[in-house]
Amino acid sequence: MPNELSESESQKVMGNIPDSEKVLKNKVAIITGASRGIGKAIAQRFAEAGASVVICARNDGLLKKVSAEITSKGQQCLALRADVTSENDVAETVKKTLDTHGHLDILVNNAGMVRDNLIARMKPEDWDIVLSTNLKSAFLFISAAAKPMIRKRSGRIINITSVIGIRGNAGQANYAASKAGIIGLTKSAAREFASRNILVNAIAPGFIVTDMTDQISSEQRELITKEIPLNRLGQPEDIANAALFLASERASYITGQVINVDGGMII
Ligand code: NAP
Repeated sequence: MPNELSESESQKVMGNIPDSEKVLKNKVAIITGASRGIGKAIAQRFAEAGASVVICARNDGLLKKVSAEITSKGQQCLALRADVTSENDVAETVKKTLDTHGHLDILVNNAGMVRDNLIARMKPEDWDIVLSTNLKSAFLFISAAAKPMIRKRSGRIINITSVIGIRGNAGQANYAASKAGIIGLTKSAAREFASRNILVNAIAPGFIVTDMTDQISSEQRELITKEIPLNRLGQPEDIANAALFLASERASYITGQVINVDGGMII
Protein backbone atom coordinates (compact mmCIF):
# COMPACT_ATOMS: atom_id res chain seq x y z
CA MET A 1 0.00 0.00 0.00
CA PRO A 2 1.64 3.34 -0.97
CA ASN A 3 1.83 5.75 1.94
CA GLU A 4 -0.24 8.48 0.25
CA LEU A 5 -1.55 11.54 2.09
CA SER A 6 -5.20 12.47 1.76
CA GLU A 7 -5.95 15.83 0.09
CA SER A 8 -6.54 17.51 3.46
CA GLU A 9 -3.36 16.02 4.97
CA SER A 10 -1.22 17.15 2.06
CA GLN A 11 -2.72 20.66 2.25
CA LYS A 12 -1.73 20.78 5.93
CA VAL A 13 1.81 19.66 5.13
CA MET A 14 1.96 22.53 2.62
CA GLY A 15 0.94 24.90 5.44
CA ASN A 16 -2.57 25.43 4.05
CA ILE A 17 -5.51 24.66 6.29
CA PRO A 18 -8.30 23.07 4.23
CA ASP A 19 -11.46 25.19 3.98
CA SER A 20 -13.48 22.67 6.01
CA GLU A 21 -11.18 23.29 9.00
CA LYS A 22 -11.39 27.08 8.81
CA VAL A 23 -13.69 27.26 11.80
CA LEU A 24 -13.54 31.07 11.96
CA LYS A 25 -14.28 31.71 8.28
CA ASN A 26 -15.99 35.11 7.75
CA LYS A 27 -15.39 36.08 11.40
CA VAL A 28 -13.71 39.32 12.43
CA ALA A 29 -11.60 39.24 15.60
CA ILE A 30 -9.82 41.96 17.58
CA ILE A 31 -6.85 40.70 19.58
CA THR A 32 -5.19 43.14 21.97
CA GLY A 33 -1.49 42.92 22.82
CA ALA A 34 -0.78 40.93 19.67
CA SER A 35 2.67 42.35 18.87
CA ARG A 36 4.33 39.35 20.59
CA GLY A 37 3.85 36.41 22.93
CA ILE A 38 0.41 34.95 23.57
CA GLY A 39 -1.49 37.64 21.63
CA LYS A 40 0.62 37.05 18.52
CA ALA A 41 0.03 33.29 18.73
CA ILE A 42 -3.73 33.83 19.07
CA ALA A 43 -3.76 36.19 16.07
CA GLN A 44 -1.82 33.65 13.98
CA ARG A 45 -4.08 30.74 15.02
CA PHE A 46 -7.28 32.73 14.34
CA ALA A 47 -6.02 33.93 10.93
CA GLU A 48 -5.11 30.33 9.99
CA ALA A 49 -8.66 29.36 10.97
CA GLY A 50 -10.02 31.87 8.44
CA ALA A 51 -10.71 34.93 10.61
CA SER A 52 -9.88 38.49 9.57
CA VAL A 53 -7.79 39.57 12.53
CA VAL A 54 -7.32 43.09 13.83
CA ILE A 55 -4.26 43.31 16.05
CA CYS A 56 -3.29 46.13 18.37
CA ALA A 57 -0.44 47.11 20.70
CA ARG A 58 1.76 50.18 21.20
CA ASN A 59 4.87 49.03 19.32
CA ASP A 60 4.04 49.90 15.72
CA GLY A 61 7.13 48.21 14.26
CA LEU A 62 6.50 44.83 15.89
CA LEU A 63 2.81 45.03 15.07
CA LYS A 64 3.53 45.61 11.37
CA LYS A 65 5.95 42.67 11.38
CA VAL A 66 3.29 40.33 12.79
CA SER A 67 0.77 41.67 10.28
CA ALA A 68 3.21 41.14 7.37
CA GLU A 69 3.87 37.54 8.51
CA ILE A 70 0.14 36.81 8.55
CA THR A 71 -0.74 38.50 5.25
CA SER A 72 2.26 36.85 3.50
CA LYS A 73 0.37 33.55 3.94
CA GLY A 74 -2.67 34.98 2.15
CA GLN A 75 -4.51 35.54 5.46
CA GLN A 76 -6.27 38.72 6.61
CA CYS A 77 -4.72 41.07 9.17
CA LEU A 78 -5.13 44.75 10.01
CA ALA A 79 -2.59 46.29 12.42
CA LEU A 80 -3.76 49.28 14.50
CA ARG A 81 -1.44 50.98 16.94
CA ALA A 82 -3.30 51.52 20.22
CA ASP A 83 -2.66 51.99 23.92
CA VAL A 84 -5.32 49.85 25.62
CA THR A 85 -5.43 52.18 28.64
CA SER A 86 -6.71 55.01 26.42
CA GLU A 87 -10.49 55.21 26.02
CA ASN A 88 -9.97 57.12 22.78
CA ASP A 89 -7.59 54.50 21.29
CA VAL A 90 -9.99 51.69 22.24
CA ALA A 91 -12.96 53.47 20.62
CA GLU A 92 -10.87 54.18 17.48
CA THR A 93 -9.78 50.52 17.24
CA VAL A 94 -13.36 49.28 17.33
CA LYS A 95 -14.51 52.02 14.92
CA LYS A 96 -11.75 51.27 12.36
CA THR A 97 -12.54 47.55 12.61
CA LEU A 98 -16.20 48.25 11.82
CA ASP A 99 -15.30 50.75 9.05
CA THR A 100 -13.07 48.09 7.44
CA HIS A 101 -15.09 44.93 7.94
CA GLY A 102 -18.62 46.08 8.79
CA HIS A 103 -18.94 43.74 11.79
CA LEU A 104 -17.09 42.38 14.83
CA ASP A 105 -17.53 38.81 16.04
CA ILE A 106 -14.72 38.09 18.51
CA LEU A 107 -12.79 40.17 21.04
CA VAL A 108 -9.73 38.82 22.85
CA ASN A 109 -8.58 40.98 25.76
CA ASN A 110 -4.99 39.80 26.04
CA ALA A 111 -2.77 42.91 26.51
CA GLY A 112 -1.10 42.87 29.89
CA MET A 113 1.94 43.78 31.92
CA VAL A 114 3.64 43.15 35.26
CA ARG A 115 5.30 45.56 37.67
CA ASP A 116 6.22 43.32 40.58
CA ASN A 117 7.13 44.32 44.11
CA LEU A 118 6.26 43.42 47.67
CA ILE A 119 3.22 45.35 48.91
CA ALA A 120 5.31 47.32 51.41
CA ARG A 121 7.51 48.59 48.57
CA MET A 122 4.92 48.90 45.81
CA LYS A 123 4.26 52.47 44.66
CA PRO A 124 0.67 53.56 44.02
CA GLU A 125 1.65 54.29 40.40
CA ASP A 126 2.78 50.64 40.00
CA TRP A 127 -0.67 49.60 41.23
CA ASP A 128 -2.49 52.03 38.91
CA ILE A 129 -0.62 51.20 35.69
CA VAL A 130 -1.05 47.43 36.13
CA LEU A 131 -4.75 47.71 37.01
CA SER A 132 -5.31 50.09 34.12
CA THR A 133 -3.44 47.98 31.53
CA ASN A 134 -4.74 44.58 32.62
CA LEU A 135 -8.27 45.30 33.86
CA LYS A 136 -9.65 48.70 32.90
CA SER A 137 -8.59 48.04 29.29
CA ALA A 138 -10.80 44.93 29.19
CA PHE A 139 -13.77 46.93 30.51
CA LEU A 140 -13.16 49.65 27.87
CA PHE A 141 -12.93 47.11 25.03
CA ILE A 142 -15.94 45.08 26.17
CA SER A 143 -18.00 48.23 26.48
CA ALA A 144 -17.04 49.40 22.95
CA ALA A 145 -17.27 45.95 21.30
CA ALA A 146 -20.58 44.98 22.93
CA LYS A 147 -22.56 47.55 20.91
CA PRO A 148 -21.97 46.01 17.45
CA MET A 149 -22.23 42.50 18.97
CA ILE A 150 -25.60 43.33 20.57
CA ARG A 151 -26.84 44.67 17.22
CA LYS A 152 -25.77 41.39 15.60
CA ARG A 153 -27.17 39.32 18.48
CA SER A 154 -23.95 37.33 18.53
CA GLY A 155 -20.39 37.58 19.77
CA ARG A 156 -17.54 35.97 21.66
CA ILE A 157 -15.39 37.68 24.26
CA ILE A 158 -12.30 35.93 25.63
CA ASN A 159 -10.39 37.54 28.47
CA ILE A 160 -6.89 36.41 29.40
CA THR A 161 -6.57 36.13 33.17
CA SER A 162 -3.88 34.09 35.00
CA VAL A 163 -3.46 31.35 37.59
CA ILE A 164 -2.06 34.19 39.73
CA GLY A 165 -5.55 35.77 39.75
CA ILE A 166 -6.86 32.55 41.28
CA ARG A 167 -4.19 31.70 43.83
CA GLY A 168 -2.29 35.00 44.38
CA ASN A 169 1.48 35.43 44.49
CA ALA A 170 3.85 37.21 46.86
CA GLY A 171 5.31 40.20 45.03
CA GLN A 172 2.44 40.38 42.52
CA ALA A 173 -0.46 41.91 44.48
CA ASN A 174 -1.23 44.42 41.72
CA TYR A 175 -1.07 41.77 38.98
CA ALA A 176 -3.09 39.22 41.01
CA ALA A 177 -5.76 41.83 41.78
CA SER A 178 -6.02 42.79 38.11
CA LYS A 179 -6.34 39.15 37.03
CA ALA A 180 -8.87 38.32 39.79
CA GLY A 181 -10.76 41.40 38.57
CA ILE A 182 -10.79 39.95 35.05
CA ILE A 183 -12.55 36.86 36.41
CA GLY A 184 -15.27 38.98 38.10
CA LEU A 185 -15.63 41.06 34.93
CA THR A 186 -15.92 37.90 32.80
CA LYS A 187 -18.65 36.36 34.96
CA SER A 188 -20.63 39.61 35.18
CA ALA A 189 -20.39 40.30 31.44
CA ALA A 190 -21.41 36.69 30.71
CA ARG A 191 -24.58 37.20 32.76
CA GLU A 192 -25.29 40.64 31.22
CA PHE A 193 -24.87 39.58 27.60
CA ALA A 194 -26.14 35.99 27.59
CA SER A 195 -29.60 37.03 26.37
CA ARG A 196 -27.94 38.64 23.32
CA ASN A 197 -26.02 35.46 22.50
CA ILE A 198 -22.68 37.05 23.44
CA LEU A 199 -20.56 34.45 25.22
CA VAL A 200 -17.88 35.65 27.61
CA ASN A 201 -15.15 33.38 28.97
CA ALA A 202 -11.66 33.64 30.39
CA ILE A 203 -8.48 31.63 29.98
CA ALA A 204 -6.11 31.34 32.93
CA PRO A 205 -2.63 30.51 31.62
CA GLY A 206 -0.04 29.02 33.94
CA PHE A 207 3.61 29.67 33.20
CA ILE A 208 4.01 30.42 29.47
CA VAL A 209 7.33 31.10 27.75
CA THR A 210 7.14 34.73 26.50
CA ASP A 211 8.94 38.06 27.07
CA MET A 212 6.83 38.46 30.24
CA THR A 213 8.45 35.42 31.87
CA ASP A 214 11.86 35.88 30.22
CA GLN A 215 13.58 37.51 33.17
CA ILE A 216 12.97 34.61 35.55
CA SER A 217 16.22 32.87 36.51
CA SER A 218 16.87 29.27 35.47
CA GLU A 219 16.74 28.24 39.15
CA GLN A 220 13.27 29.75 39.50
CA ARG A 221 12.19 28.06 36.26
CA GLU A 222 13.26 24.71 37.64
CA LEU A 223 11.27 25.33 40.83
CA ILE A 224 8.20 26.37 38.83
CA THR A 225 8.49 23.33 36.54
CA LYS A 226 8.44 21.08 39.61
CA GLU A 227 5.04 22.58 40.50
CA ILE A 228 3.60 21.67 37.08
CA PRO A 229 2.19 18.11 36.90
CA LEU A 230 2.80 17.98 33.12
CA ASN A 231 6.44 18.85 33.92
CA ARG A 232 6.94 21.52 31.28
CA LEU A 233 6.39 25.22 30.79
CA GLY A 234 3.59 26.22 28.42
CA GLN A 235 3.96 27.69 24.93
CA PRO A 236 1.90 30.61 23.55
CA GLU A 237 0.29 28.12 21.12
CA ASP A 238 -1.18 26.19 24.09
CA ILE A 239 -3.21 29.30 24.94
CA ALA A 240 -4.03 30.05 21.29
CA ASN A 241 -5.56 26.56 20.90
CA ALA A 242 -7.87 27.11 23.88
CA ALA A 243 -8.83 30.56 22.54
CA LEU A 244 -9.65 29.06 19.14
CA PHE A 245 -11.95 26.52 20.79
CA LEU A 246 -13.75 29.22 22.82
CA ALA A 247 -14.17 31.37 19.70
CA SER A 248 -15.55 28.48 17.64
CA GLU A 249 -19.07 27.08 17.24
CA ARG A 250 -17.97 24.07 19.29
CA ALA A 251 -18.04 26.26 22.43
CA SER A 252 -21.55 27.62 21.84
CA TYR A 253 -22.91 26.34 25.21
CA ILE A 254 -20.07 27.69 27.35
CA THR A 255 -20.21 31.08 29.02
CA GLY A 256 -18.93 32.68 32.23
CA GLN A 257 -16.17 30.08 32.63
CA VAL A 258 -12.49 30.27 33.43
CA ILE A 259 -10.48 27.61 31.59
CA ASN A 260 -7.11 26.87 33.13
CA VAL A 261 -4.38 26.13 30.60
CA ASP A 262 -1.57 25.52 33.03
CA GLY A 263 -0.27 21.96 32.74
CA GLY A 264 -2.18 21.11 35.90
CA MET A 265 -0.70 23.85 38.15
CA ILE A 266 -4.14 24.34 39.66
CA ILE A 267 -6.07 21.12 40.14
P1 NAP B 1 4.17 39.86 26.61
O1 NAP B 1 4.98 38.95 25.75
O2 NAP B 1 4.85 40.80 27.53
O3 NAP B 1 3.17 40.66 25.65
C1 NAP B 1 2.30 41.63 26.19
C2 NAP B 1 1.53 42.26 25.05
O4 NAP B 1 0.67 43.27 25.61
C3 NAP B 1 2.43 42.94 24.05
O5 NAP B 1 1.92 42.76 22.75
C4 NAP B 1 2.35 44.40 24.47
O6 NAP B 1 2.61 45.23 23.34
C5 NAP B 1 0.90 44.49 24.92
N1 NAP B 1 0.64 45.63 25.78
C6 NAP B 1 1.15 45.88 27.03
N2 NAP B 1 0.73 47.07 27.47
C7 NAP B 1 -0.08 47.59 26.50
C8 NAP B 1 -0.78 48.79 26.35
N3 NAP B 1 -0.81 49.74 27.31
N4 NAP B 1 -1.47 49.00 25.21
C9 NAP B 1 -1.48 48.07 24.22
N5 NAP B 1 -0.82 46.91 24.30
C10 NAP B 1 -0.12 46.67 25.43
O7 NAP B 1 3.17 39.03 27.53
P2 NAP B 1 2.45 37.60 27.33
O8 NAP B 1 3.16 36.65 28.20
O9 NAP B 1 2.24 37.31 25.90
O10 NAP B 1 1.07 37.93 28.05
C11 NAP B 1 -0.15 38.10 27.37
C12 NAP B 1 -1.29 38.02 28.38
O11 NAP B 1 -1.25 36.73 29.03
C13 NAP B 1 -1.17 39.05 29.50
O12 NAP B 1 -2.47 39.51 29.85
C14 NAP B 1 -0.58 38.26 30.66
O13 NAP B 1 -0.91 38.81 31.90
C15 NAP B 1 -1.24 36.91 30.44
N6 NAP B 1 -0.53 35.80 31.08
C16 NAP B 1 0.75 35.48 30.73
C17 NAP B 1 1.38 34.43 31.35
C18 NAP B 1 2.77 34.00 31.02
O14 NAP B 1 3.31 33.10 31.72
N7 NAP B 1 3.42 34.54 30.01
C19 NAP B 1 0.72 33.71 32.38
C20 NAP B 1 -0.57 34.08 32.71
C21 NAP B 1 -1.20 35.12 32.05
P3 NAP B 1 3.34 46.68 23.40
O15 NAP B 1 4.38 46.61 24.46
O16 NAP B 1 3.84 46.83 22.03
O17 NAP B 1 2.24 47.65 23.70
